[in-house]
Amino acid sequence: MGEHALLSASGAHRWMNCTRAPRLEESMEDGTSVYAEEGSLAHLLAEIKICKEIGSISQQSYNKRLQEIRSNPLYSEEMDKATEVHKDFCIERFNEAKTMTKDAVILLEQKLDYSPWVQEGFGTSDTTIISDSVLEIIDYKHGKGIAVSAHENPQMKLYALGAINHFGFLYNLETIQMTISQPRLDSISSFEMSVDDLLKWGDEVVRPKAEMAFAGIGNFMVGVHCRFCKVKAICRARADENMKLACLDFQSPPLLTDEEVVEVLHSLEELMSWGKSVQEYALSMAMNENKQWPGMKLVQGRGSRKYTDEDAIVKALTAAGCASDVIYKKSLNTITTLEKELGKKTFDELLGSFITKAPGKIKLVPEEDKRPEIKTSPEVDFQ
Ligand code: SF4
Repeated sequence: MGEHALLSASGAHRWMNCTRAPRLEESMEDGTSVYAEEGSLAHLLAEIKICKEIGSISQQSYNKRLQEIRSNPLYSEEMDKATEVHKDFCIERFNEAKTMTKDAVILLEQKLDYSPWVQEGFGTSDTTIISDSVLEIIDYKHGKGIAVSAHENPQMKLYALGAINHFGFLYNLETIQMTISQPRLDSISSFEMSVDDLLKWGDEVVRPKAEMAFAGIGNFMVGVHCRFCKVKAICRARADENMKLACLDFQSPPLLTDEEVVEVLHSLEELMSWGKSVQEYALSMAMNENKQWPGMKLVQGRGSRKYTDEDAIVKALTAAGCASDVIYKKSLNTITTLEKELGKKTFDELLGSFITKAPGKIKLVPEEDKRPEIKTSPEVDFQ
């Protein structure tokens, strides 16, 4: 793990909402996940590809590093294709910048210090392109859960402040472009703002929040940002908020009203997410730290059977006279596996016409949800 700022750019959405979070999170250990490690490997691969393209590393050094990356079990064809798309995008943006200013520069993995606004604040921008009055920050996201928007994205804006801090003296910067490239979701999201507006945001919004967050003062603020907070399982403010949701104070009559049913539906998602984080925390403490929770114990779940030696099984079944269609099942790889192996583009070209998508299960969601509303009724179902 590399060094990490207390008020990191990636955690800005959280600490700008809940200024108490960073100091509390400090007491928790840094964890990592296979997704985080896969993301780091993909970043490395994207970086060497761009380096090779702009000639900042030799072919020999590129081959050596590529070999190392490919030998990592987390490397995949899909990673190769996604980083290729990202590399092409960055090179395209760099070439465009060179058409505006022939001495445009591209910087990779540039450490950016935004400490004039945020105490000890720094972060690393994947790709930074400067062409006279325009500075562009491009961030690679390897995840394919949800497409991340660059619109008013505080992580990107903090990187941009750091870039102004570094390069503002050398260039006559007027415009900042911020782009999030997420090739596994075919997503490119860009947002542009003037340097003046960014500096105003830095002075008027970021600095006061950062001062409170650095000192560990201010109000706890519960919200969607809690989901990535390291203390989310044991934070009392979050627990209180969820207990309020759980203690819906319904009055008679004996049957719930429509409004009360909707109130339960609204509370449910947050309650379940909170409950899951408490459960995961308690289990991890019991398993890894030998923590004894009063009135609770660890037990073995139901196991599942699996073969120990497939070759020996085939031999035994063949010797017993079983036909091969009894022994083997022939089936296609799943859509997800084939898409991962072939890459989205080739998959669409080769197999697009053979894929059909069954409509998803109907869900009842709050009206603010971005998905379009569908109408259903017994008549529509019948048709
Ligand atoms: S869980 Fe939410 S409310 Fe609690 S410290 Fe973290 S961000 Fe703040």
